[in-house]
Amino acid sequence: MALSALRKLRANRKNRAGGADRSSASGKPPRAADGEILLETVGLTKTYAGADGELPVLAGIDLKVRAGEILALLGRSGSGKSTLLRCLAGLIPAGSGTIAYRDEPLRGANPGTAMVFQTFALLPWLTVQQNVELGLEARGVPADERADAALRAIDLIGLDGFESAFPKELSGGMRQRVGFARALVVEPDVLMMDEPFSALDVLTAENLRGELLELWESGRFPTRAIVLVTHNIEEAVLMADRIVVLGSRPGRIKESFEVALDRPRDRNSAAFEDLIDRVYRVMTGRVKETRVPGRPDEVEPDRRTPANTPLPTASVDGLSGLAEMVAHRGGRCDLPDLADDLGLEVDDLLPLVDALDLLGFAKISGDDLLLTEVGAAYAGADVQLSKTLFAEAALGAPLVRLITTSLRQNPEGTLRAGFFRDVLAHHYTSEQVTEQLETATDWGRYAELYAYDADPQEYRLDEDEQPPPSAQA
Ligand code: ADP
Ligand code: MG
Repeated sequence: MALSALRKLRANRKNRAGGADRSSASGKPPRAADGEILLETVGLTKTYAGADGELPVLAGIDLKVRAGEILALLGRSGSGKSTLLRCLAGLIPAGSGTIAYRDEPLRGANPGTAMVFQTFALLPWLTVQQNVELGLEARGVPADERADAALRAIDLIGLDGFESAFPKELSGGMRQRVGFARALVVEPDVLMMDEPFSALDVLTAENLRGELLELWESGRFPTRAIVLVTHNIEEAVLMADRIVVLGSRPGRIKESFEVALDRPRDRNSAAFEDLIDRVYRVMTGRVKETRVPGRPDEVEPDRRTPANTPLPTASVDGLSGLAEMVAHRGGRCDLPDLADDLGLEVDDLLPLVDALDLLGFAKISGDDLLLTEVGAAYAGADVQLSKTLFAEAALGAPLVRLITTSLRQNPEGTLRAGFFRDVLAHHYTSEQVTEQLETATDWGRYAELYAYDADPQEYRLDEDEQPPPSAQA
C-alpha cells in the first residue's frame, strides 16, 4: 500500500489540477468513483451504561457517506456526534444495527478511515515527523517508506520546515496540521474530523478551514470523502456538500440539507445566509419534528419533569445578560445577527435562549428572540425585583421546583444533594447530573429559594424564602 501511496502523492503533487491517480493499489480496493457509497449505517443504535441503567445515545441512524463529498454531522453538544463518528471509524462497537465499509460489515477498526481529533492527540515526546509516521507504523509500513510518505504529507499540509520540531514548540494551528498530516499520510478513503477547528482561535481556524478546502478542491487531497463533526452551523455551511443535523437524547437524524452553493462560498450571499437560517431553525427545534417526541419545548408546561425537561446549562448572569441585550434592541432581535455582533457562534447562545424560554422570559419566533412581558420587566428590573421575578419563573423549571418543594415538605428544611443525584441518575449520565445540579444550585441561590452547602453537600431552604403565591404547592 505504501509504495503506491507514495506514487500517488507524488503524481498528485506534479499534477495539481485534479489528475489524481485512481488506479488500484495493491491490497487496497480501487479508488471509489464519486457517488459510490463508502460508509453506510442502517438502524445504528448505541447506548452507554449510565449511573443507573442504559443511556441511549444514538437511536436508529441511517446514514450513507459517498465518495466525493464532504459530509457535516451537525448537532448540539451531547447529541452523539462523536459517538457516531467513533462507531463509523470502528473505534467503538455499535449497539445494534449495521455499519458497512464498502459493503463489508465492519469488524474492529475501519481500515478506510483516519481520524483528526479536536485536541490534536499528538505524542509530546515525538517530533512532527515521528507523529505523522505513527499512522503508517501501525499499518506495518517499512521505515524508509514511512519517512518518505510522512515528508510528503508534511509538505502537502504546509508543515515544511517543522519536521523535527516537537509539539510543544508549535502553535495550535501547526499542531492541528500535524493531526491532519498524520491522518492523511495513510490515504484513508474517508477522513474523519471531530471538531478539528474548535480548539483553535478564530483566525487560525478560519485559515485552516480555507487551506483544507483549497486542497480538497485542488484534487491533491489523498482521501475520497470527509466526515466533519461540528457544532458550528456556519462551519458546516461553509465546508459541507451535505449537512446532517443530529437531535439529542437520543441522537437521531433530524434533517439533512444538500448544500448546492458554489465554492469558494460567499458568506455574505443571500443563499448562504438563507441556508444558515434554515439549519438554525432545525437546530433550535423551532420547526416541526415528526421523529423526536418529548423535546423540552414540546412538553406542555404542566407536564414538565426534571427527566423530560433538563435545565439548559446557563448561568443567571448569562441569561440575564442576554435578556438585557434583547431589551436594548427593543425587545426583539434576530439571533444569528446577535451572535454575529457578539463574535459568538449561535450555538453558544442556545443554552441561554433555552433558559429564557423555559423561564417564560422569551419566546422564539422564526429566527427572532422576543422578550415576553415578564421578560421585559425582568430585564429592566432592579436587583430586588429581578430576584422576585426570577424566583417565580425559576419554579417553572422542573428541577428547581423539585428541590424547592422537596425542601418545603421536609421538616428540617434540608436535603442531601445525593438524594437529587439519585433521582436524576435514572435519566442522565453522572456528568449531566452534575451539570443539572450546578445549574439548579445557581438558579435557586439567585432566586433565594434555597441555599447549598458544599461541605455536607446539602440543600437548605432559604431562611427568608417567601414563596410567591403561584408557587404554593
Ligand atoms: P457530542 O460529540 O455530540 O457532544 P457525544 O457523542 O460525545 O456527543 O456524547 C453523547 C452523549 O453520550 C452525552 O450525553 C455524553 O455524556 C454521553 N457519553 C459519551 N461518551 C460516553 C461514555 N464513554 N460513557 C458514558 N456516556 C458517554
Ligand atoms: Mg463531541
